[in-house]
Amino acid sequence: MINEIEIKSKLSNNLSKLPKYLFAEIDELKNEVISKGVDVIDLSIGDPDIPTPQPIIEALYEAAKDPSNHRYPSYSGMYSFRKAVSEWFYRRFNVEFDPKNEIIALIGSKEGIAHIHWAFLNPGDVSLVPDPGYPVYNSATILAGGIPYKLPLKEENNFFPSFENIPSNVINKAKIMFINYPNNPTSAKATYEQFEKAVWFAKKNNIILCSDLAYSEIYEDNEKPISIFNIPGAKDIAIEFHSLSKTFNMTGWRIGFAVGNQNIVNGLLSIKSNVDSGVFNAIQIAGIRALQPDMEKYAQQNREIISRRKKKMVSILKDVGLEVYTSTATFYLWVKNPKGLSSKEISMIFLKEIGIVVTPGNGFGENGEGYFRISLTAPDDKIEEAANRIKKLKL
Ligand SMILES: *Cc1c(COP(=O)(O)O)cnc(C)c1O
Repeated sequence: MINEIEIKSKLSNNLSKLPKYLFAEIDELKNEVISKGVDVIDLSIGDPDIPTPQPIIEALYEAAKDPSNHRYPSYSGMYSFRKAVSEWFYRRFNVEFDPKNEIIALIGSKEGIAHIHWAFLNPGDVSLVPDPGYPVYNSATILAGGIPYKLPLKEENNFFPSFENIPSNVINKAKIMFINYPNNPTSAKATYEQFEKAVWFAKKNNIILCSDLAYSEIYEDNEKPISIFNIPGAKDIAIEFHSLSKTFNMTGWRIGFAVGNQNIVNGLLSIKSNVDSGVFNAIQIAGIRALQPDMEKYAQQNREIISRRKKKMVSILKDVGLEVYTSTATFYLWVKNPKGLSSKEISMIFLKEIGIVVTPGNGFGENGEGYFRISLTAPDDKIEEAANRIKKLKL
């Protein structure tokens, strides 16, 4: 019989170095509270509660019936899917990409975000990753044998990294940099000037610039986030990861895409062709449906729902004296811990006293300490109930 300690010693060195996956740990605690009979409201994970739009489901149903879709898909994605991406991208950002060699289908953008590190890092190479940040940038760097260097995101800089503060010996070893705006977990948006700075910095230092645009369509008041490719010259050094998950409530479907510099896209493709066999064609066909112009109304409905929930929650949080960072994007609220409490302490108070699961900020990196994240991806009545419980919270 193999016990836990023996298994641990058998794990690869890189895998053993990873921090415990944040959401797994929260899940454990949550289940403990649920088992005590508490009606727990989970506002911790960015997983939309609203169903996928019907036309997308119907497209999948039709495509699934066609036996020619039952065979292995192509590694880079169906040409028709990549073409739909290029048309969507042009409509949305006014930038052109060649479906032949500048676009690749992904099994969710998380897959591409992880694999890009295997394509370009040698042991000892550095990947510059935002802190706080989406945990995959850091963990995939470590699994690929690279060294993550954390770029602190500070509120006084609107949660954008200060490239001036990176030591030159780190820059010399840096091969990849990740930016993510609209940002998870802080909800911050980046300006054109900030994106321009990122492109200049990456170009000057010959670093592959990876832009994670998972939240490009989650915005308010028609303030549309921009793409890194709205900056002239970005195509020389950048790749951008996009997802259908958050835009069309398709987290479970596992489909996304990357666009960018041909050589970078090609590097990612080489890794993928060795470890996976692409996205089920029927899901790509449903993805094509999602990217059509008439589907924009569903994205707009999502935005309105999120905006309404956000207004409600922000006003309650302010009423009880909590300080919320407010931006016009994402479905997250980044809230300051009250009264010098640690992120873990305030999250425990939310869970134990009012049965609400939030995410402690330090779960996204040490610079997230001092904050916690609320995700607005629960049904309206749950958000309402959560707001009522927060009102009663004595802080
Ligand atoms: C949700 C999320 C993703 C991953 O989305 P997929 O479902 O894998 O397409 C990527 N980046 C960030 C910042 C996210 O929050």
